[in-house]
Amino acid sequence: MPSHPQLAAEFIENKDRAHWHDQSLWFVRSKRDKAVNQLPEWELLREQASQIKQHTVSDLPNLLEEFERNATARGVHVHWARNATEHNEIVHGILKQHNVSRVVKSKSMLTEECHLNPYLERHGIEIIDTDLGERIVQMQNMPPSHIVMPAIHIKKEEIGELFHEKLGTEKGATDPQYLTEAARQHLRQKFIQAEAGITGVNFAIAETGGFVVCTNEGNADLGTSLNKLHIACMGIEKLIPRAGDLSVFLRLLARSATGQPITTYSSHFHGPAPGQEMHIVLLDNGRSEISGSDEFRRSLNCIRCAACMNTCPVYRRSGGYSYSNTVPGPIGSILGPARDPKENSSLPFACSLCGSCTDVCPVKIDLHHQLLTWRKEIRIKGFLPFSKRISMKMMSWMMQAPKLYKLSGKMARWIVPKLPRFLLYNRLNDWGKQRELPEFPKQSFREWMKENHDKK
Ligand code: SF4
Repeated sequence: MPSHPQLAAEFIENKDRAHWHDQSLWFVRSKRDKAVNQLPEWELLREQASQIKQHTVSDLPNLLEEFERNATARGVHVHWARNATEHNEIVHGILKQHNVSRVVKSKSMLTEECHLNPYLERHGIEIIDTDLGERIVQMQNMPPSHIVMPAIHIKKEEIGELFHEKLGTEKGATDPQYLTEAARQHLRQKFIQAEAGITGVNFAIAETGGFVVCTNEGNADLGTSLNKLHIACMGIEKLIPRAGDLSVFLRLLARSATGQPITTYSSHFHGPAPGQEMHIVLLDNGRSEISGSDEFRRSLNCIRCAACMNTCPVYRRSGGYSYSNTVPGPIGSILGPARDPKENSSLPFACSLCGSCTDVCPVKIDLHHQLLTWRKEIRIKGFLPFSKRISMKMMSWMMQAPKLYKLSGKMARWIVPKLPRFLLYNRLNDWGKQRELPEFPKQSFREWMKENHDKK
């Protein structure tokens, strides 16, 4: 699989798109800042959320069993899946049992993680994503590039072309209202025809056995109320202990994600409606292993708000697809290597360690510290590329030899300004592709100190 730098290079080749992507996400980040600044108790909420999540993860087995007991008492069928294969088989089994061939699904990154859509399609089941952004990328046969705004990388002109081809809209149409109405009519038919609805889960409550799904389009409600079968797919870390904890997370989630005070729909499910059947599939897929790690346990606090992506200077400029991981950005660069450190070995390096992700994270995950720890792990596991290994070795060797360091600095200050430009800026120098070297000083800091300070 190509590494993050290779895929990022493809994305930034289209300079206009890269710039526009960066600006769009920065706009969302700024909206988040405004919404956050209106809440004097923001830091208190973050601290509460962090503590609730840490408590939940430390007592996860008991709380999950409590959730199962209470959900079952409400008439929900609870299933346990160790991995993506088991998850998909369970979902398929339920659909088969009910002779379902058409399903609508509201946005769920967990089903993306399990590649549920292609799995069900291979078994002859039509599965339609009903979140507008997700439907757009589904029509392109692509995964979401962002966990909250799946089609943030696509321009309205491209959506116009796609809808013209797939939905028969007017050629060249770019009016967002017209295109949204076309998607609405198209999806309305799919909602009516569907025989089952699949949703994700934002928060599941151990105390009550209920769960909450947050959307801005109301598609989770429509997808689950027009038919008789509802399957909710949930990662085991989505649990919170008490119903009272919900208010903390609902206040944090939408503000962090899009700068809204709350998502337009926070749909509460507490057992099946009369005549309906409800299933919930609890997926582990490596989460238990993460919960046993002192360094990475806190990554399970994540409520998938995407604030860390919107603020990340690397994500904004390199796009979601450059991560080749269901969840991109800073949190994805932690979860990806936890799943497969070799395959995702370049991700922890897709980071400037600026710490902005840690600052905005509503559940206080120490993201940039975990990314740094992953770099160390990747080096220990021997997954660093040869070029990086050798350059780091040379740098460490030079840093440990003060005389050599001094001499190299002197030579660089003397030689580099005299070199012709083509020797400095060429395809071997990735760093110089978008940057100019600063002017070299005449003397080193050590020499300057000697001259200006030591004399006094
Ligand atoms: S790591 Fe924090 S900021 Fe990033 S998606 Fe998760 S909760 Fe949001």
